[in-house]
Parts: sequence; structure tokens; C-alpha cells
Amino acid sequence: MTKHIGAHVSASGGVFNAITNAVAIGADAFALFTRNQRAWVSKPLDEAETGKFKRLMQEHNFAPEQVLPHDSYLINLGSPDPETLEKSRNAFLDEMRRAQQLGLQMLNFHPGSHLNRISEEECLDQIAHEVNRALAQTEGVAAIIENTAGQGTNLGWKFEHIRRIIDGVEDKSRVGVCIDTCHTLAAGYDLSTELGYESCMEEFDHIIGLGYLRAVHLNDSKKGAGSHVDRHETLGNGTLGEEFFRRFMHDPRFDGMPIILETPDPTRWQAEIGWLRSL
Ligand code: ZN
Ligand code: MN
Ligand code: MN
Repeated sequence: MTKHIGAHVSASGGVFNAITNAVAIGADAFALFTRNQRAWVSKPLDEAETGKFKRLMQEHNFAPEQVLPHDSYLINLGSPDPETLEKSRNAFLDEMRRAQQLGLQMLNFHPGSHLNRISEEECLDQIAHEVNRALAQTEGVAAIIENTAGQGTNLGWKFEHIRRIIDGVEDKSRVGVCIDTCHTLAAGYDLSTELGYESCMEEFDHIIGLGYLRAVHLNDSKKGAGSHVDRHETLGNGTLGEEFFRRFMHDPRFDGMPIILETPDPTRWQAEIGWLRSL
């Protein structure tokens, strides 16, 4: 098995453009927004658009496992506010349906925030409940929980949070986890040292289970371990450092899944992907 590496590329002008943008930087994986990530409602995908997306996927040899759509930043499935929750629920279902229409198998989402108005447990259980609702109305697409840095009242920075959400999801075959390496470090799991890396992976396996690991956001971090600040850095130039990326590239636990750069300078993506492969 091998590592599929790419970046979160632009889909402006049509979802199919993400594929050519990925090919242009030498990627064999990619992430994309399938709708305007800053609006609650988007126009539906039409058949011409989904048809072209599927054609280009075949033409450039992308399997669904190499593609990780990312949901809108507005969505908060853990929101204590009924109005925001309702909008989030509808938008999330729309995101899941779009992934399904495109023939994809995953949707990456940020778990949610309690806004200091409900307990962590209530918030996590609500997220699981909302995932169940969306799964019941779609087919074939798994909800992929991204771990967070724990900024503000964002949950999902502790592996125990993710475990609690998974516990509440009925269909375990359609829930998974995306590890964001910047978020992991910022959350307090110090991946920058060999010992820290190994104990983080062991903890992940022990608390969540490696079987749930489905994708990676591969970013360096501007801030230190435990800072709870989500600021991505170009690879090798942050607090994770070069050695981390070497260790990662030699770790077979990350084979066969999309590894997505969300590093701050898109003009460097091609070089960053090349550098990773050279390790
Ligand atoms: Zn994300
Ligand atoms: Mn991320
Ligand atoms: Mn981030």
C-alpha cells in the first residue's frame, strides 16, 4: 500500500475543477468544498456537473477513497441554539447528499461547539444524534470527524470526545476520524518527538481505535503543543518540524487514505508533496 497525498484544492467554477487542480500539483488525493463554505444554502449540483466530476475522476484514476470533501465552516451540529442547529442539520444533510451524488464515500466535518450554554457531554451526544439523522437519510457516505485544536468552545480536541460521539453513532461502519496534525499538537498531543508521536498513536488506538482512522490533514503548526490555537504552518517550518514528517511518511498506519495539506501557501503545495514523497 502506498500514501495518497494531496491538498485542499479550489473547486471554484465547478466541483470538477478540483480534480484538474489536484492533478496540476501532482496530487493523488484531494479535499474540496462541494458548495460555498460560507453560505447556509447553495444551489443543488446538477447532472452535468456530477457527470463531469465522475468522468474526470476516472480519467485521472482517482478512487473515492482518495477524496475527502470538507463541510461548511458554518455548521455546528452541537449548537445549543435551536435556529443554528436547524440550519446546521439541513446544511449537513445537503453536504452528505452532495458527497453521495458525486460518488464519494466520506464527508469530513468539525464536531461542534457548546458555546458555554450546554455541557460537553450534552453537546457530544447531540452531535452523535445529528449524525445518525443524516446517515439515515443518505447511503454509502461516512461522516468523518476531524479532531480540533480546542479553540474557544470547540469540542473534539480530546480523543475521549471523539470516542463519545462514535459511541452514540448507530452505524459504526459509517463513522470515522480525520487526524489533523496541527490540531493534534495544539490540543496537547506532542507529536513533535518520537516518544510523543508513539504515545499519541497508542492513545488514539486505545481510546478511539485505529480502525476508525480514515484520513489525515497534514499540516505543520505555528503554535506549540497544548496552545489550543489553530494556526497552520508550511511543512517543516513549524513546531512539528521535519523529523515529524519523516516519521509520518514511514508510518504504514497512514497508508491507503487521503493525506491532505491545508498549509498556508498554495504555491508551495506541489513542492511540499514532492518533498514528502522524497522522505
Ligand atoms: Zn477542517
Ligand atoms: Mn483540518
Ligand atoms: Mn485548522
